[in-house]
Amino acid sequence: MPRVFSGIQPTGEPHIGNYFGAMRNYVALGEQYGKNSIYCVVDLHAPTNPAAFDPALLAARTLDMAVANFAAGLDPQKVIFFVQSHVREHAELGWLFTLLTPVGELERMTQYKDKAQKLESTPAGLLMYPVLQAADILLYKADTVPVGEDQVQHIELTREIARKFNHAYGETFPEPRAVLAEGALRIPGVDGQGKMSKSKGEASTLGILEPLESIWQKLRVAPTDPARVRRTDPGDPDKCLVGDYHKLFSDAETVAEVYAGCRTAGIGCVDCKKKLMVGIGAHLGPIQERAAALQADPDYVRDALAQGAREARAIAQPIMEEARERVGFLRL
Ligand code: SF4
Repeated sequence: MPRVFSGIQPTGEPHIGNYFGAMRNYVALGEQYGKNSIYCVVDLHAPTNPAAFDPALLAARTLDMAVANFAAGLDPQKVIFFVQSHVREHAELGWLFTLLTPVGELERMTQYKDKAQKLESTPAGLLMYPVLQAADILLYKADTVPVGEDQVQHIELTREIARKFNHAYGETFPEPRAVLAEGALRIPGVDGQGKMSKSKGEASTLGILEPLESIWQKLRVAPTDPARVRRTDPGDPDKCLVGDYHKLFSDAETVAEVYAGCRTAGIGCVDCKKKLMVGIGAHLGPIQERAAALQADPDYVRDALAQGAREARAIAQPIMEEARERVGFLRL
Protein backbone atom coordinates (compact mmCIF):
# COMPACT_ATOMS: atom_id res chain seq x y z
CA MET A 1 0.00 0.00 0.00
CA PRO A 2 1.35 3.48 -0.82
CA ARG A 3 2.48 5.62 2.08
CA VAL A 4 1.35 9.22 1.84
CA PHE A 5 3.14 12.12 3.50
CA SER A 6 2.24 15.77 3.48
CA GLY A 7 3.55 18.72 5.48
CA ILE A 8 1.21 21.49 6.59
CA GLN A 9 2.55 24.95 7.39
CA PRO A 10 1.43 26.36 10.76
CA THR A 11 0.28 29.58 9.17
CA GLY A 12 -2.83 30.09 11.29
CA GLU A 13 -6.30 29.86 9.87
CA PRO A 14 -6.50 28.10 6.51
CA HIS A 15 -8.57 29.64 3.71
CA ILE A 16 -10.91 28.06 1.19
CA GLY A 17 -8.01 27.75 -1.28
CA ASN A 18 -6.20 25.51 1.24
CA TYR A 19 -9.43 23.63 1.89
CA PHE A 20 -10.27 22.79 -1.72
CA GLY A 21 -6.63 22.53 -2.83
CA ALA A 22 -5.28 20.34 -0.01
CA MET A 23 -7.33 19.63 3.11
CA ARG A 24 -10.20 17.86 1.38
CA ASN A 25 -7.67 15.71 -0.41
CA TYR A 26 -6.01 14.77 2.90
CA VAL A 27 -9.36 13.56 4.18
CA ALA A 28 -9.97 11.48 1.03
CA LEU A 29 -6.48 9.95 1.14
CA GLY A 30 -6.97 9.24 4.85
CA GLU A 31 -10.14 7.30 4.09
CA GLN A 32 -8.26 5.33 1.45
CA TYR A 33 -4.93 4.62 3.17
CA GLY A 34 -5.70 4.93 6.91
CA LYS A 35 -2.57 5.00 9.09
CA ASN A 36 -0.46 4.98 5.93
CA SER A 37 -1.49 8.63 5.50
CA ILE A 38 0.92 10.75 7.52
CA TYR A 39 0.30 14.47 8.01
CA CYS A 40 2.65 16.74 9.85
CA VAL A 41 2.40 20.35 10.94
CA VAL A 42 5.86 21.47 9.89
CA ASP A 43 6.73 23.87 12.67
CA LEU A 44 10.49 23.44 12.18
CA HIS A 45 10.06 25.03 8.76
CA ALA A 46 8.18 28.05 10.08
CA PRO A 47 11.18 30.05 11.40
CA THR A 48 13.15 29.64 8.14
CA ASN A 49 11.49 32.77 6.78
CA PRO A 50 12.03 35.49 9.39
CA ALA A 51 9.79 37.88 7.42
CA ALA A 52 6.73 35.70 8.15
CA PHE A 53 7.61 34.28 11.56
CA ASP A 54 6.49 35.36 15.03
CA PRO A 55 7.65 33.09 17.90
CA ALA A 56 4.82 34.33 20.14
CA LEU A 57 2.27 32.88 17.68
CA LEU A 58 3.93 29.61 16.66
CA ALA A 59 2.42 27.30 19.29
CA ALA A 60 -1.09 28.73 18.91
CA ARG A 61 -0.89 28.55 15.11
CA THR A 62 0.28 24.95 15.31
CA LEU A 63 -2.76 24.06 17.43
CA ASP A 64 -5.05 26.09 15.16
CA MET A 65 -3.87 24.13 12.15
CA ALA A 66 -4.62 20.86 13.91
CA VAL A 67 -8.09 22.11 14.90
CA ALA A 68 -8.84 23.27 11.36
CA ASN A 69 -7.82 19.96 9.80
CA PHE A 70 -9.73 17.88 12.34
CA ALA A 71 -12.77 20.12 11.88
CA ALA A 72 -12.50 19.71 8.09
CA GLY A 73 -12.89 15.98 8.52
CA LEU A 74 -9.43 14.54 9.14
CA ASP A 75 -9.80 11.91 11.86
CA PRO A 76 -6.65 11.57 14.01
CA GLN A 77 -7.82 8.06 14.95
CA LYS A 78 -7.73 7.02 11.28
CA VAL A 79 -4.57 8.82 10.05
CA ILE A 80 -1.29 9.84 11.65
CA PHE A 81 -1.33 13.56 12.40
CA PHE A 82 1.48 15.11 14.44
CA VAL A 83 3.79 18.08 14.91
CA GLN A 84 7.22 17.93 13.25
CA SER A 85 9.26 19.20 16.22
CA HIS A 86 7.84 16.36 18.35
CA VAL A 87 9.77 13.83 16.26
CA ARG A 88 13.44 14.78 16.60
CA GLU A 89 14.56 12.46 13.81
CA HIS A 90 13.37 14.97 11.19
CA ALA A 91 16.24 17.28 12.08
CA GLU A 92 18.77 14.46 12.29
CA LEU A 93 17.94 13.00 8.88
CA GLY A 94 17.85 16.53 7.47
CA TRP A 95 21.44 16.99 8.62
CA LEU A 96 22.56 13.79 6.87
CA PHE A 97 20.89 15.01 3.68
CA THR A 98 22.63 18.41 3.80
CA LEU A 99 25.87 16.45 3.36
CA LEU A 100 24.65 15.11 0.01
CA THR A 101 23.05 18.22 -1.46
CA PRO A 102 25.02 20.73 -3.53
CA VAL A 103 24.51 24.36 -2.46
CA GLY A 104 24.20 25.38 -6.12
CA GLU A 105 21.16 23.16 -6.56
CA LEU A 106 19.46 24.68 -3.51
CA GLU A 107 20.20 28.19 -4.76
CA ARG A 108 18.32 27.37 -7.96
CA MET A 109 15.07 26.54 -6.13
CA THR A 110 12.38 28.97 -7.23
CA GLN A 111 10.81 29.35 -3.79
CA TYR A 112 14.18 30.07 -2.21
CA LYS A 113 14.94 32.75 -4.80
CA ASP A 114 11.53 34.38 -4.27
CA LYS A 115 11.85 34.49 -0.49
CA ALA A 116 15.57 35.34 -0.31
CA GLN A 117 15.26 38.37 -2.56
CA LYS A 118 12.88 39.96 -0.04
CA LEU A 119 15.33 39.56 2.86
CA GLU A 120 18.32 41.70 3.76
CA SER A 121 20.21 38.74 5.17
CA THR A 122 19.37 35.16 4.20
CA PRO A 123 19.48 32.52 6.94
CA ALA A 124 21.15 29.24 5.91
CA GLY A 125 17.99 27.48 7.11
CA LEU A 126 15.99 29.07 4.30
CA LEU A 127 18.40 27.58 1.78
CA MET A 128 18.15 24.19 3.54
CA TYR A 129 14.35 24.21 3.63
CA PRO A 130 13.91 21.68 0.80
CA VAL A 131 16.53 19.40 2.39
CA LEU A 132 14.50 19.25 5.60
CA GLN A 133 11.42 18.69 3.46
CA ALA A 134 13.17 15.70 1.86
CA ALA A 135 13.90 14.36 5.35
CA ASP A 136 10.24 14.85 6.35
CA ILE A 137 9.15 12.59 3.51
CA LEU A 138 11.91 9.99 3.49
CA LEU A 139 11.92 9.54 7.28
CA TYR A 140 8.71 7.59 6.69
CA LYS A 141 9.82 6.09 3.37
CA ALA A 142 6.74 7.77 1.94
CA ASP A 143 6.30 7.24 -1.78
CA THR A 144 3.30 9.49 -2.43
CA VAL A 145 3.34 13.20 -1.72
CA PRO A 146 0.22 15.29 -2.43
CA VAL A 147 1.43 18.80 -3.22
CA GLY A 148 0.60 22.00 -5.01
CA GLU A 149 2.38 22.84 -8.26
CA ASP A 150 4.80 25.14 -6.44
CA GLN A 151 6.23 22.17 -4.52
CA VAL A 152 6.95 19.88 -7.47
CA GLN A 153 10.53 21.17 -7.77
CA HIS A 154 11.18 20.28 -4.12
CA ILE A 155 9.86 16.75 -4.61
CA GLU A 156 12.19 16.35 -7.58
CA LEU A 157 15.04 17.33 -5.26
CA THR A 158 13.80 14.78 -2.69
CA ARG A 159 14.01 12.09 -5.36
CA GLU A 160 17.53 13.13 -6.19
CA ILE A 161 18.56 13.10 -2.51
CA ALA A 162 17.09 9.59 -2.15
CA ARG A 163 19.07 8.47 -5.24
CA LYS A 164 22.29 10.01 -3.91
CA PHE A 165 21.86 8.43 -0.48
CA ASN A 166 21.12 5.03 -2.00
CA HIS A 167 24.11 5.34 -4.32
CA ALA A 168 26.49 6.40 -1.52
CA TYR A 169 25.31 4.08 1.26
CA GLY A 170 23.17 1.35 -0.28
CA GLU A 171 19.50 1.05 -1.17
CA THR A 172 17.54 2.66 1.68
CA PHE A 173 14.93 5.16 0.51
CA PRO A 174 12.19 5.03 -2.16
CA GLU A 175 11.95 7.82 -4.72
CA PRO A 176 8.64 9.48 -3.86
CA ARG A 177 6.32 10.89 -6.48
CA ALA A 178 4.49 14.18 -6.30
CA VAL A 179 0.75 13.84 -6.73
CA LEU A 180 -1.02 17.01 -7.68
CA ALA A 181 -4.19 17.10 -5.63
CA GLU A 182 -7.08 16.05 -7.87
CA GLY A 183 -9.08 19.15 -8.71
CA ALA A 184 -6.46 21.34 -7.04
CA LEU A 185 -7.82 24.63 -8.16
CA ARG A 186 -6.40 28.04 -8.62
CA ILE A 187 -8.98 29.72 -6.49
CA PRO A 188 -9.18 33.47 -7.09
CA GLY A 189 -8.82 35.87 -4.17
CA VAL A 190 -12.01 37.62 -3.08
CA ASP A 191 -10.32 40.98 -3.80
CA GLY A 192 -10.03 40.02 -7.49
CA GLN A 193 -6.22 40.41 -7.40
CA GLY A 194 -5.22 36.97 -8.72
CA LYS A 195 -4.92 33.73 -6.75
CA MET A 196 -6.22 33.59 -3.16
CA SER A 197 -3.17 33.83 -0.94
CA LYS A 198 -2.48 34.51 2.70
CA SER A 199 0.60 36.52 1.72
CA LYS A 200 -1.72 39.09 0.11
CA GLY A 201 -3.49 39.66 3.41
CA GLU A 202 -6.99 39.07 4.69
CA ALA A 203 -8.59 41.09 1.90
CA SER A 204 -7.68 38.24 -0.47
CA THR A 205 -8.85 35.28 1.61
CA LEU A 206 -12.02 33.67 2.90
CA GLY A 207 -11.04 31.69 6.00
CA ILE A 208 -12.74 28.36 6.54
CA LEU A 209 -13.29 29.37 10.18
CA GLU A 210 -14.14 32.98 9.38
CA PRO A 211 -17.56 34.11 10.68
CA LEU A 212 -20.13 33.95 7.87
CA GLU A 213 -21.00 37.62 8.41
CA SER A 214 -17.38 38.60 7.80
CA ILE A 215 -17.32 36.43 4.65
CA TRP A 216 -20.48 38.18 3.44
CA GLN A 217 -18.94 41.64 4.02
CA LYS A 218 -16.03 40.68 1.75
CA LEU A 219 -18.26 39.05 -0.88
CA ARG A 220 -20.66 41.98 -0.92
CA VAL A 221 -17.95 44.28 -2.28
CA ALA A 222 -16.12 41.64 -4.33
CA PRO A 223 -15.57 42.63 -7.98
CA THR A 224 -17.78 40.90 -10.56
CA ASP A 225 -17.68 40.71 -14.35
CA PRO A 226 -16.86 44.32 -15.37
CA ALA A 227 -19.18 43.92 -18.40
CA ARG A 228 -22.16 44.18 -16.00
CA VAL A 229 -22.12 47.92 -15.56
CA ARG A 230 -25.91 48.08 -15.19
CA ARG A 231 -28.26 45.46 -13.76
CA THR A 232 -29.68 44.96 -17.28
CA ASP A 233 -26.28 44.18 -18.83
CA PRO A 234 -25.66 40.46 -19.38
CA GLY A 235 -22.46 39.08 -17.88
CA ASP A 236 -20.14 36.13 -18.18
CA PRO A 237 -19.91 34.02 -14.99
CA ASP A 238 -16.72 32.44 -16.28
CA LYS A 239 -15.07 35.84 -15.95
CA CYS A 240 -16.29 36.41 -12.41
CA LEU A 241 -14.83 35.10 -9.16
CA VAL A 242 -18.36 34.72 -7.77
CA GLY A 243 -19.08 32.36 -10.68
CA ASP A 244 -15.93 30.39 -9.75
CA TYR A 245 -16.96 30.20 -6.10
CA HIS A 246 -20.43 28.93 -7.07
CA LYS A 247 -18.75 25.91 -8.70
CA LEU A 248 -17.10 25.13 -5.36
CA PHE A 249 -19.98 25.72 -3.00
CA SER A 250 -23.32 25.53 -4.81
CA ASP A 251 -25.23 22.48 -6.02
CA ALA A 252 -25.47 21.78 -9.76
CA GLU A 253 -28.98 23.19 -9.99
CA THR A 254 -27.98 26.52 -8.43
CA VAL A 255 -24.88 26.75 -10.62
CA ALA A 256 -27.00 26.21 -13.75
CA GLU A 257 -29.59 28.75 -12.59
CA VAL A 258 -27.05 31.41 -11.68
CA TYR A 259 -24.92 30.94 -14.81
CA ALA A 260 -27.98 31.22 -17.06
CA GLY A 261 -29.30 34.18 -15.06
CA CYS A 262 -25.98 36.00 -15.33
CA ARG A 263 -25.76 35.51 -19.12
CA THR A 264 -29.31 36.77 -19.65
CA ALA A 265 -29.23 39.51 -16.99
CA GLY A 266 -32.01 37.56 -15.28
CA ILE A 267 -30.25 37.79 -11.93
CA GLY A 268 -28.49 40.72 -10.28
CA CYS A 269 -25.04 40.38 -8.76
CA VAL A 270 -26.26 40.95 -5.19
CA ASP A 271 -28.82 38.14 -5.49
CA CYS A 272 -26.19 35.94 -7.10
CA LYS A 273 -23.88 36.56 -4.14
CA LYS A 274 -26.67 35.84 -1.66
CA LYS A 275 -27.27 32.47 -3.35
CA LEU A 276 -23.56 31.80 -3.03
CA MET A 277 -23.72 32.51 0.70
CA VAL A 278 -26.30 29.71 1.07
CA GLY A 279 -23.79 27.21 -0.34
CA ILE A 280 -20.94 28.66 1.72
CA GLY A 281 -23.03 28.36 4.90
CA ALA A 282 -23.93 24.75 4.07
CA HIS A 283 -20.24 23.86 3.55
CA LEU A 284 -18.51 25.87 6.24
CA GLY A 285 -21.24 25.85 8.91
CA PRO A 286 -20.64 22.24 10.03
CA ILE A 287 -16.84 22.71 9.86
CA GLN A 288 -17.09 25.81 12.04
CA GLU A 289 -19.31 23.98 14.54
CA ARG A 290 -16.81 21.13 14.82
CA ALA A 291 -13.96 23.66 15.21
CA ALA A 292 -15.80 25.39 18.05
CA ALA A 293 -16.29 22.03 19.81
CA LEU A 294 -12.57 21.22 19.39
CA GLN A 295 -11.52 24.66 20.63
CA ALA A 296 -13.63 24.05 23.72
CA ASP A 297 -11.75 20.79 24.31
CA PRO A 298 -8.03 21.59 23.89
CA ASP A 299 -7.04 18.43 25.80
CA TYR A 300 -8.55 16.31 23.03
CA VAL A 301 -6.45 18.12 20.41
CA ARG A 302 -3.24 17.91 22.48
CA ASP A 303 -3.82 14.20 23.24
CA ALA A 304 -4.45 13.50 19.56
CA LEU A 305 -1.17 15.24 18.66
CA ALA A 306 0.72 13.32 21.35
CA GLN A 307 -0.70 10.06 20.04
CA GLY A 308 0.18 11.09 16.47
CA ALA A 309 3.77 11.81 17.53
CA ARG A 310 4.04 8.37 19.16
CA GLU A 311 2.75 6.70 16.00
CA ALA A 312 5.08 8.76 13.81
CA ARG A 313 8.11 7.97 15.99
CA ALA A 314 7.30 4.25 15.83
CA ILE A 315 7.80 4.43 12.06
CA ALA A 316 10.58 7.02 11.99
CA GLN A 317 12.94 5.65 14.62
CA PRO A 318 13.78 2.31 12.94
CA ILE A 319 14.21 4.07 9.58
CA MET A 320 16.54 6.63 11.19
CA GLU A 321 18.45 3.79 12.84
CA GLU A 322 18.83 2.13 9.45
CA ALA A 323 20.14 5.40 7.96
CA ARG A 324 22.65 5.82 10.84
CA GLU A 325 23.88 2.30 10.32
CA ARG A 326 24.25 2.80 6.56
CA VAL A 327 26.30 5.95 7.05
CA GLY A 328 28.54 4.10 9.49
CA PHE A 329 28.03 5.77 12.86
CA LEU A 330 29.33 3.90 15.88
CA ARG A 331 26.57 1.88 17.55
CA LEU A 332 26.86 0.84 21.19
S1 SF4 B 1 -24.43 37.57 -11.74
FE1 SF4 B 1 -23.04 36.45 -10.42
S2 SF4 B 1 -21.61 35.43 -11.79
FE2 SF4 B 1 -22.64 37.05 -12.97
S3 SF4 B 1 -21.28 38.83 -12.83
FE3 SF4 B 1 -22.81 39.01 -11.19
S4 SF4 B 1 -21.84 38.04 -9.42
FE4 SF4 B 1 -20.71 37.40 -11.21
